[in-house]
Amino acid sequence: MRRIAANYIFTVEGAALKNGIVELDDNGKILKVEDTNGKLKESSKLEFYNGIITPGFINTHCHIELSELKDKIPQGKGLPEFINKIFEYRNENTLENNDKAIDLQNSLMRNAGIVAVADISNTNASINVKRSSSIYYHTFCEVAGTKSNPDKIFNSLQELFNEFVNQDLSASIVPHAPYSVSSGLFNRIYEFAEKENSILSIHNQETESENQMFLNKTGTLVDTLEDLGVDLSNYKPAGSNSLESITKLLPRNNNIIFVHNTYSEYEDVRMASEYFKNSYWCLCPLSNLYIENKLPDLNIFKEFSNKVTLGTDSLASNTTLSIMEEMKVISNNSDISFSELLKWATINGAKALKLDNKFGSIKEGKTPGLNLVTDFDFENMCLAEKSKVKVLV
Ligand SMILES: [Zn+2]
Repeated sequence: MRRIAANYIFTVEGAALKNGIVELDDNGKILKVEDTNGKLKESSKLEFYNGIITPGFINTHCHIELSELKDKIPQGKGLPEFINKIFEYRNENTLENNDKAIDLQNSLMRNAGIVAVADISNTNASINVKRSSSIYYHTFCEVAGTKSNPDKIFNSLQELFNEFVNQDLSASIVPHAPYSVSSGLFNRIYEFAEKENSILSIHNQETESENQMFLNKTGTLVDTLEDLGVDLSNYKPAGSNSLESITKLLPRNNNIIFVHNTYSEYEDVRMASEYFKNSYWCLCPLSNLYIENKLPDLNIFKEFSNKVTLGTDSLASNTTLSIMEEMKVISNNSDISFSELLKWATINGAKALKLDNKFGSIKEGKTPGLNLVTDFDFENMCLAEKSKVKVLV
């Protein structure tokens, strides 16, 4: 048994407790959360830390299988060029040390206080690491295809899905993005997801040209897709933003994580939040800056704050897989309070992944993991640039 205290315990679902104490069993399960009313009495068995304690972080968007692409793709070139580069690396198959890179990033994520990850996979490259990791992984087996053979494409993804599930790993089959999935393929994903009541995820409005494509078939994304051999001759633009155009192609009641939302407008988010019963909005600000040099309109999301989650995306478009570094960017570019931001980093992601019985807040009976954040700015009650995270439990 351990008794751990710090200047503040951020329980997330309750108050922040000044000089609070968390009591845990040997398996990291919380036995008791004690409010000392700010007055901590000396105790020989108490571990006291300078800083704040938070639950473990939840990363709701990663592609760990792209770990070897760190520093390989130039920054600021926009999403269409980024997609080109990813295809180049995939086709040339030049990744030789990817197993090691995946293994390393898995350890670094854990050291960065991350306890659960929703990870996009196009291959089985991450299976071994996920099997033995102390991080909980939910794998989104991601499907894309615009040609007229949706059954064949879907069936091959189902094989990938089975590989994960057969290793007792949690997984689902998800569409890549509005522009890369045919309506026939969307139908197959819809049926399967509804039957399995699975968690869904889709890249959403990551570039301005995604909306342009759906509005009137213009923009650099159209050019890139045609260059990659996608036949758009029969493509009819829907005349609305991409999100509105594909809403009805996704099941209404499943948990669904919309990722990036860099070019989402208020009306897009409001409309989808009303239509989908369990929509979540995953922000990956460092990746957005890397690829598009643009942040989402963070003010939009205040109204939907209980449904916002955070992701790191992959090392193809980020220099580190750290939820706390993502929090710092948002904190520096908005007036969102630390306690609100911490919900985005913990309990909201846990709910999106249906893990909130175990993760996401410091509460009796949960095993959320405990992070110590040092060099916290106590004067303004927010993260400082030099704030660091250390895993306690
Ligand atoms: Zn992604």
